[in-house]
Parts: sequence; C-alpha cells; structure tokens
Amino acid sequence: MNVSTLDLLRCPYCGGTLELVTSMFHRAAGDEIEDGILGCRCCIFPVIDGIPVLHLLPPSVTARSHVEAGRPDQARRVMFGLDDDEQASQFEAVASSSEATYKDTVEALGPNFEGGYFLYRFSDPTYVVADAVVRAVAGTVLSGRPAVDICGGSGHLTRSLMAVSPTAPILADLYFAKVWLARRFTAPGCEPVCCDGNAPLPFARGAFGFAMCSDAFQYIWTKRQFVGEMSRLIDGPGEPGAVVINHTHNSLAWSPSHGQPLDPAGYRDLFETIEPRIFGEAALFGDVVKGGPLDLARQASPQSLDADPALTMIATRHPGVLRAHPLAPPEGIRGELRVNPLYARQEAGPLVHLRLSFPSTDYEDEYGACRQYLPEEATLKPESLRALEAGDRPADLEDMIRRRVILDLPKYYY
Ligand SMILES: [Zn+2]
Repeated sequence: MNVSTLDLLRCPYCGGTLELVTSMFHRAAGDEIEDGILGCRCCIFPVIDGIPVLHLLPPSVTARSHVEAGRPDQARRVMFGLDDDEQASQFEAVASSSEATYKDTVEALGPNFEGGYFLYRFSDPTYVVADAVVRAVAGTVLSGRPAVDICGGSGHLTRSLMAVSPTAPILADLYFAKVWLARRFTAPGCEPVCCDGNAPLPFARGAFGFAMCSDAFQYIWTKRQFVGEMSRLIDGPGEPGAVVINHTHNSLAWSPSHGQPLDPAGYRDLFETIEPRIFGEAALFGDVVKGGPLDLARQASPQSLDADPALTMIATRHPGVLRAHPLAPPEGIRGELRVNPLYARQEAGPLVHLRLSFPSTDYEDEYGACRQYLPEEATLKPESLRALEAGDRPADLEDMIRRRVILDLPKYYY
C-alpha cells in the first residue's frame, strides 16, 4: 500500500487515524508498505503483502500475530485460507510465476474459492449494466477526490472506475484473496483494502467523490449503517459526490442467490440525508442493449420497480448525473482484445467461425439475457484474429467489439 492511502483510512472502531508502527516488524520500500502493523488509539491491524486488513475477524487476528512475529509469509497463507502446506506451496509457486494467468491463480486457490463464472464476468448482463452506470456517474462526479468500490470482490468494476478516475481508486472487500487478485490482474493500480461491510467503513468522512457497491448489498445485514457510511464517505465541501448501489435484489421479485433484500420502499428509507433515484435494472439493460443513451433522467413507476428482480440506486446532489448519458465503447486497448470465452472457435475454410456456447445450463438460466447482444454465431477473418492477438484493434472488428464478441480483457486473464 502507498503511504498516502493512510490519509484516507480510519480505524473502523474508534475512527482514529492509522500509522505504521515502526517499532514493530515491518517491510517498506520507498512510499510502499509491504508488511507491518498499523496502529490507532484503540487497536492494531496488519498490512499483509501490501494490503491493510482493517477488521478483527479470526483470520485477521491470527495473521496479525504472524506479522508481529516477523512471519509475513505465514500471515499471507492465513489470509488466503491455505491451511494445507502442500496446497499453500502449490499456490505460492503459481503466484510467483510471471506467466501465471488470473485463471491459473484462481484454480490454484482450490475448488472452494470463487469457482463460478468469473471468466465470463466481462460480458454478463449484470456487469454490462453496472459498467455503464459506473462510467456514466463516476465519469461525471469525479474530479479531485478518489473513488471507492466497496464489496468490490476481485475488481471487475474497479477496472471500469479506473477508466474514468484521475487518481487510483480504492477497492475494499472482506476477502483478502479477491482484492489481491484484483491488484495483480483485474485492476492493477488500484489500492486494495480488506474490511468488513457489516462494520463501520474504515475511511475518513468525505474522503471520496464516488462510493459504489455492486451485486453485494443484498448480502449486507447492517444495511442502514452501510448506507449511512456510504453517504458519510462522499460528504464534505466541494463538488458533490455520488453513492451508487448497483444490482441489489428486490424482496418482491425472486432472483437466484437472493440474499436478504428489501423492497424498493425499504431501500428508499435507508437514505436519510440524500434522496436516492431508484431504477429497475431491466430498463437500464434495455438502454445498454440498444447502444445508449443510458437514461438516468427516467422516473420509474412504482409498479415497474416492484416487478424488477434487480434495482440500481443513485444518490447524489450533483446536477450532471440524473440525465441521459451517451454510451460509447471505450477507445484504444486497455488490456488485450480477445474473443469472448463464451464462444467456441472453429477454423473452417477461409474464415474463423465462432459459436455462442454456455458453460452450463445454470449459467444460461441466470445470464441468458446476454443473447440480446451476443449473436449466436459470428465469423471473422484469420488475419483480423492474428492482428488482434498481436495487439492491434482492426477496424473490421469494431462491430464485434461493440457486441462484446470481442472483449478488452485484463492482461493475463485467461
Ligand atoms: Zn481504533
């Protein structure tokens, strides 16, 4: 972690500032703290592999004692949940290889970790809506202050934030392995922080211009505190900030991995200081499918909100947010352009044929709406594919980029 991040951090329990305890074990190089102990007025917290762990759940306390004893490698194993020595060595061999991909590294963490569909995340319908909302809102409100992605997992939307953020965003999540993966692969350059979304958030009042939480709020039990905390983080003088909660489930409409959602009125009541605008995800998805604009000026009817399984909430006093935003695919190449992993590839004759092929019927049931932008089949010229793999953005593939048949993925993703 960069020492300047300490300016944004506060103890979640006493609210005090945090400093590196230089009398205890630590490793630092220049402005970067690798391992060590942060202290406030009430407590001490470990920094492990450059990630501050600002909660007192059992793995954190065990890992902290390893850092205090000068055993940062053991601390990291505890935070990764690697209690089996053989599995830990295998993981460390993969993690230290410069050739390892995100997929290799996730697999080395074992079948209990993540699993699921991370490989397909960059084209799933939930992601494409959240990505559009994040780029529109953060792109409008961010000027001087940084952004924070809370419960941001392995950083897929932190990557969206980085495209519109003048300074490094903070990625916060309970799971150490996820934020570690984000810094290494998905969103290099973000500042990861490990914290508990059910506790007060470990940041200073007004530290951020944009605070978001995507596809996680339904799993937070202390919702009232969480919204109060999000509002606190963007408080303060200067340009008004924004709180965005993307893809939270609706207790009135069933969805997979339901969590403990509220109904739209219940969500609205959580916001005591800024009136939120609530959107049904279906309407925003429609905007994205037709290529924009993303209409954040719309006022959804209560009936349409009650019927939508997923909701997006935006709370802001910034005059530029609740309007229509053009949606254009980002220009240039941020990572590497690759064929979407949902396509099976076959070279036949003079063309390469691609066919949409879901990893499972479960995936198809949950994310099948991607068919609205992903065509069943596509063809491309072998020379275009070679140009793509050599790092170019061939003009004849622009439509496939727009349709997400070709994705701009992080380097070393799969
Ligand atoms: Zn404290």
